[in-house]
Amino acid sequence: MTKIKQINHIAIVVEDIDQALTFWRDALGLELSHVEDVPDQEAVVAFLPAGGSEIELVKPTTDDSGIARYLQKRGAGMHHICLEVDDIEAALSRLRAHGVQLINQTPTIGTGGKKIAFIHPKSTHGVLVELYELNPEEPEIRLMRARQLADRVLTRGQVAAAAALGFLRALRDGERNGEKIVIEEKTK
Ligand code: ZN
Repeated sequence: MTKIKQINHIAIVVEDIDQALTFWRDALGLELSHVEDVPDQEAVVAFLPAGGSEIELVKPTTDDSGIARYLQKRGAGMHHICLEVDDIEAALSRLRAHGVQLINQTPTIGTGGKKIAFIHPKSTHGVLVELYELNPEEPEIRLMRARQLADRVLTRGQVAAAAALGFLRALRDGERNGEKIVIEEKTK
């Protein structure tokens, strides 16, 4: 039987990251680990670790993504809860057996090989729920990318080195987060 391991993150849609940080970081006191442009999600995301999980402030960068439409329709607010599971396929079949409406019948594969699927709010009493299974090879894949980048840096010099430092920092933070972050987009 599949197990729910922890809340991985809670995503909050905001109009403006800096303004949102005046509450979440400055007033409340959460630490901001980093801010990332995530082109896959057409959004900028600020990551604020809270124990083993994270608050993610999400600001859409286009007008027509799901998150952008959500913001236009309902204003800023909680967008979804992400639960980490040890076996996402097993979790999905269990949900199907319970007649739960799924947005993704099969998991989508994200950066680093992680598997993600969303459950429809109609079945969850109004909350969009994301399921997330970490690829066991994800940490190695990330490390490999970092090494490849370091090699490139040696041949390209200073400017690339500065970019790489940012990359490695993001990588380290991403490791802590265990998720997402389309790091390689930054290096193109
Ligand atoms: Zn999420």
